[in-house]
Amino acid sequence: MTKKISNKTVKLIKFYDLINYNLIYNNKAINRYKKDNFEISVNKAKSLELLKKTILNLKNCDLKRLSKNIVFSDGNPKSRIMLVGEAPGANEDQEGLPFVGRAGVLLDKMLSSINLDRTKVYISNIINYRPPENRKPTDEEIKRYLPFIKKHIEIISPKILILLGSTAMNALIGDETVISKARGKWIEKKFGSCNTSLIVTFHPAFLMRQPAQKKLAWIDLKMIRDKKVKLKI
Ligand code: URA
Repeated sequence: MTKKISNKTVKLIKFYDLINYNLIYNNKAINRYKKDNFEISVNKAKSLELLKKTILNLKNCDLKRLSKNIVFSDGNPKSRIMLVGEAPGANEDQEGLPFVGRAGVLLDKMLSSINLDRTKVYISNIINYRPPENRKPTDEEIKRYLPFIKKHIEIISPKILILLGSTAMNALIGDETVISKARGKWIEKKFGSCNTSLIVTFHPAFLMRQPAQKKLAWIDLKMIRDKKVKLKI
């Protein structure tokens, strides 16, 4: 025999639905939601969405006009380790994700050598749209996109920030130095409210052209591995 639900119970169910009972009474924090299995706070998700929208709404940008997709980021937004490259190439433009071409394959190998992968790091670029013919971004383009990557770093708030190559290095720490001198050193740096330990290393595309430099990149990777242990990441 099925029991008839009273009007009072129906009203109660509707009420619980309305106030989102599950959200309030489950034992998880309310202010959280799931995105690609990486739980991040609503504030962080909103800030990332707003940043992406701001870049998508850029006016009079030739890079944007000539690109297929925005290349915003890949990886885990909860990660305490962030990598910043230069700008997307053709494959990245096609897929809308950073480092998915040949340089990305090497980057994944570099990460894997110190027990990291894209579920454990967050990746973005100085420039979010592909420069035509894969040319280097101009100073003017870097100047235009710089506030966005700085804000991006502040939102992610990594404890370790890895700059891949001289474009990322010059944009974020200045152009008084050359990469051969700056790489392999920890620099304490502040981006808005984010205090981070930053290290510069060679860009994987450069390492493909100059494989002899991989031994220096390996020193940098081991420094990152040790720092990760020291910071209990
Ligand atoms: N090189 C970069 O600097 N970024 C990418 O996303 C791909 C290649």
